[in-house]
Amino acid sequence: MEITKRKYIIQGVLHLVTLIAAVAIIGHFLNIPLFYKMTFIPMPIYSAIGFVLLSVAASLINHNVGITGLFTGTHIGNIMARRLFSKMFIAILVTGFFHILAQRREWISPELGSALIIVVFIVITLTLIWKTSTRLNAIDDKKRMARDNFSIAFEAAPNALILSDRHGTITLLNTETAKLYKYSREELTGSNIRGLIPERLQRDYNTKKEAFFDFPNVRKFYSEDNLYAVKKNGEEFPIELILTPVKTSEETLLLATIIDITQRKKQEETIKKQLIELQVKNKELEQFNYISSHDLQEPLRTLSNYIMLLKEDYADQLNEEMRMHLETMGASVSRMSRVVLSLLEFGKLGRKKKLAQVDCSILIGNVLTDLGGSIKESSATITVHCDIPDFYAYETELQQLFQNLINNAIKFRKQGVTPQITVTASRLPGYYEFAVTDNGIGIPRQHFDTIFHIFQRLNSSEDFEGHGIGLANCKKIAEMHGGSIWVESEPGTGSTFKFTILNLKN
Ligand code: ADP
Repeated sequence: MEITKRKYIIQGVLHLVTLIAAVAIIGHFLNIPLFYKMTFIPMPIYSAIGFVLLSVAASLINHNVGITGLFTGTHIGNIMARRLFSKMFIAILVTGFFHILAQRREWISPELGSALIIVVFIVITLTLIWKTSTRLNAIDDKKRMARDNFSIAFEAAPNALILSDRHGTITLLNTETAKLYKYSREELTGSNIRGLIPERLQRDYNTKKEAFFDFPNVRKFYSEDNLYAVKKNGEEFPIELILTPVKTSEETLLLATIIDITQRKKQEETIKKQLIELQVKNKELEQFNYISSHDLQEPLRTLSNYIMLLKEDYADQLNEEMRMHLETMGASVSRMSRVVLSLLEFGKLGRKKKLAQVDCSILIGNVLTDLGGSIKESSATITVHCDIPDFYAYETELQQLFQNLINNAIKFRKQGVTPQITVTASRLPGYYEFAVTDNGIGIPRQHFDTIFHIFQRLNSSEDFEGHGIGLANCKKIAEMHGGSIWVESEPGTGSTFKFTILNLKN
C-alpha cells in the first residue's frame, strides 16, 4: 500500500476514535446515557477524555493529513477554521446544554425550545459569518493593496523586469523592457524569453534557468560573466542580470532584472585605454629621467675635473677672490651631482624589485644595524612592535622605505631632546599597516602632502642636510606595493608616518 494512502487510513481511524470519545464526553456533559453507552461497554468520562487526548496526539504525528491538517495549517483557511470551530463548538455546547435543561425542567414547551434554538443558532451563525467575512475582507484588501503596489513598483522600476515561467513564457513585463528591447508590450507578452537572448548564448541561459528552477534563489550575474541581450532589430548589448524567484500558489516564476551596461562598458574601455596610455607615458618619463640624469653625470664630472685642474695647476696665479669663486663653483657642481644621482636612484627604484617572504622583525633589525652610527650618535631609543606573520613584499625596497623614515625620525629631532622612536606593524583585512612615530620637530599641516613630492624640503640644508628625495622614494615604494603613505603630525610635538602595503601573495 502506498505510504500516503496508509497515512490517510490511520488518520481516519484516529478521527473516528476522537469523534466517538467526544460524543461520549458530550453525553456525560449533557447527561444523555445513549451517547456514552453506544459503544459495547459504556465509556466512563475519564476514558473518553483519555481517548480524545490520545487520538488527537496520535493524529498530530501526521499533522498535515485529514482534519488535523485543517486545524494545524498556516493558511488563512486554517486560521479561520481554528477560530470558527472553537467559537461554534462552545456556542453549540452551551446552547444545547440550556436547551436540554429547559426541556427537563419543563421551563418551556418543546416547540418553543426548538424555535428558540433555531433563533439562537441563526444569531450565532450570522455573528460568526459577519466576523469572519469582515476579517476575510480586510485580508483581501491587504492582498489587493500588495498586488497593486507590486504592479506600481514593477512598472516604475528603472530597469527592465520580465516575469516568466519554467518554459520561458513571458507572463509580465514593464515599460522599460519594451523600451529597452524595442518591442511593443503585446509582442512580448506570451512570447518566449529566448527571443531576447542571442542565439549563441541561449544554451548558457537555459542552463542558468534550469539551475534556477531546481534551486530557486536569488542569482546575480555581473559584467564579468559576459552576458548579452538582443533587441528586436538584432542589435546586441551587454547586460547584468538578476534572477529572483517569485512564488505563486501554483508555481514558482522567474523574475529577471535586466540592466543595460552599454554605457558603463564603454566608460570602462575608455578608462582602460587611458590607463594603458598613462602607463606608457610614465614609462617614457621614467626612461627620460633615467637617461637624462645618466647623461648629465658626464659633463658634471668634466666640470668638476676642470675645477680641480684649475685649482691645482694655477694655484700660484689664483688670487683669494678667484679661489673663492672656484670653491663656490665646486660646491654647486657637487650639489648638482648629488641631485642628479638622487634622480637616477629615483628612476632606478624598483627596476629590479623581487618579491620575497619578509619577516618584519628581521627586516627592521637590518635597518637598525645599518643606521647604527646615527642611532649611537643621537642616543636615539627605538622601540619596535612587529607581531605580524611573515608576508610577501619587495624586500630591498621595503627596507629602504623603513630606512628613510627612521633616518628622518632621527634627523629631524628637536634640539636637546633625545629621539624616542616607535615602529609598529599591524595586520588588517587584506593589507598591512606600518607606522614610524617620533618626538621630533613635527610638520605643519599645510605640508602634509607636499613633503612627499620630489625635492620638497621644509628646512634649510644648514639645519638638516638632505636633498628632499627620501619621502618621494617612500611614496613610490608604498605605491609599488599597492599601498599608500601619509603623515600625521603636530609641529613641536612629533610626527607619525604611516604606510600600507598589500600582502602581494594573496
Ligand atoms: P630630506 O630628508 O632629504 O630633506 P625627505 O624627502 O626625506 O627629504 O623629507 C622631505 C621633508 O619632509 C624634509 O626636508 C623635512 O622637512 C620633512 N620631514 C620628513 N620627515 C620628517 C620628520 N620625521 N619630522 C619632521 N619633518 C620631516
